[in-house]
Amino acid sequence: MKFSTSFIPTLRDVPTNAEVASHILLLRGGFIRQLGSGLYTWLPLGVRVLQKVERIVREELNKKDAQEVLMPFVQPGELWKESQRWEIMGLDLLRMQDRHENDYCLSPTHEEVITDLFRKNVKSYRQLPCNLYQIATKFRDEIRPRFGVLRSREFIMKDGYSFHLDEDSLHKTYIAMHEAYSAILTRLALDFRSVEAHGGVIGDEENREFHVLADTGEDAIAYSEASSYAANLEKAEAVATGEAASASETLTKISTPNVRTIKGLVECLDVPIEQTVKTLIVQGRDSPIGLVLRGDHELHEIKAAGLPNVLSPLTFTKESEVRHHIGCNVGSIGPVQLQIPYYVDRSAAVLSDFVCGANEDDFHLTGVNWNRDESLRSSAIQDFRKVVEGDQAPDGSGPLSILRGIEVGHIFKLGKKYSHSMNATVLDEHGESVNVLMGCYGLGITRLTAAVIEQKHDEVGPLWPLEIAPAQVHLVALNVPRSSAVASVANQVYEQLTTQGIEVLYDDRDERPGVKFADADLIGIPHRITIGERGLSQDLIEYQCRREAKLELPLDQIVPSVLRDLG
Ligand code: ATP
Ligand code: MG
Repeated sequence: MKFSTSFIPTLRDVPTNAEVASHILLLRGGFIRQLGSGLYTWLPLGVRVLQKVERIVREELNKKDAQEVLMPFVQPGELWKESQRWEIMGLDLLRMQDRHENDYCLSPTHEEVITDLFRKNVKSYRQLPCNLYQIATKFRDEIRPRFGVLRSREFIMKDGYSFHLDEDSLHKTYIAMHEAYSAILTRLALDFRSVEAHGGVIGDEENREFHVLADTGEDAIAYSEASSYAANLEKAEAVATGEAASASETLTKISTPNVRTIKGLVECLDVPIEQTVKTLIVQGRDSPIGLVLRGDHELHEIKAAGLPNVLSPLTFTKESEVRHHIGCNVGSIGPVQLQIPYYVDRSAAVLSDFVCGANEDDFHLTGVNWNRDESLRSSAIQDFRKVVEGDQAPDGSGPLSILRGIEVGHIFKLGKKYSHSMNATVLDEHGESVNVLMGCYGLGITRLTAAVIEQKHDEVGPLWPLEIAPAQVHLVALNVPRSSAVASVANQVYEQLTTQGIEVLYDDRDERPGVKFADADLIGIPHRITIGERGLSQDLIEYQCRREAKLELPLDQIVPSVLRDLG
């Protein structure tokens, strides 16, 4: 590949609208360009990287006997109505009509289409298990596309789906896919974790996310240093340690004029925040419901929305309604003699001698103790707070640490969710019709490519792993076309390497050395050969591997050295 005839529009300046390394460096290195909000064109060098990532993905999936298909990007609305996701998907699903006024959508995912393919073509248990995947474009009308291709609206995903007669078979494939994903991320030399996660609108059975660790990651993951426990913070279970000590203080109602917040309460009474509780009021099925948490803990809205009788999505009760039901402002509520049902977070349930609202404006209670002052049913004790650094891991292995990660993949057991709603059955060995079990496995190709840069870059450019670099060798010829000696040696080296099957980006342009070096840094190809007149006069060529120290090698050793390094 000769630079002079390639389309590689690198940028000298940092683009103003890009915040994270991958977005900045993909733009500057001439890998991508933005077309519109959340829409990107991949340029020649970007496509080379994507194709290599895809090749690794295909190789690892094919090893596990998954087979590739390619399904339409435009999908009939009818299928989505059948699975009842036409409404549930909300505005992420871009809907449209054709000239006959039939409903269609742009595919955000392919469960419906694959289930339809399966039910029309597979009839017998003998054809199971069946594991199909594709690498294709997806569209999700993300509310806030950001960070370039990390969260775009149109993106490339590898999505796979498997079909099974029984749990055992589903589990085997689920594990095989877990292995394949681990192998893919290991080949990319990424530091990653597979974590417990929430299924979202896709399904709510066993599932696991794969996160590439990076400070810029949108997700927080909690993990135990002492065991393999790791979970998305959205899912991580919060446990409480110990039991409530017996009461040592008397219950006292004290005046707290104008105190409306936990911060105000802590200042007014000079108590540790861990000894306070707050009571939030949310909408329930029959009446508002109280959620009692330790003052320093944060409500986990997804967990709370899953509590019995609490409305999902979680909706906070309006101030006027709170006053109507409880008779005070939202900052003065507490569990003692609360006239509405309530839940208590596990950590608030082990407090003793604590402080809470008195259900009366400008008053709080101190020295409160469960059992003595308010009988607490065990069914009211639930987990609905966010985990924090230092909490005990739910497997009892020790404290949790929290890291940031980029979710690049997600594998699910779907169970019969789609085979029920869309009636996908096979005849089992007794000739009876049974709904199949399904699994689904997503991996964001474009997001993964950006995640590689988030983890592997320095101040000047990306540090591509060799297997997905846009080329293996960057050959810089200085002062061509003026120096015929340089041009002739560079041409020879280029020929020799390419005939050996090495991919070379050959900078044969009539540009200043500074421009060529800056572009080489921005493109980030791991091996660099520089040929200039000064070196050639002593029969030497400069060779640099991964921005390590530069070596001066004799002319006849350059090709063998590169070949040796490339293994
Ligand atoms: P997120 O929580 O980040 O929105 P998701 O849970 O919606 O992702 P899945 O439905 O599990 O994602 O999709 C599988 C994979 O597709 C993700 O792990 C991710 O790699 C990729 N992906 C999802 N949404 C986007 C997006 N907007 N841009 C780029 N890649 C995406
Ligand atoms: Mg997900």
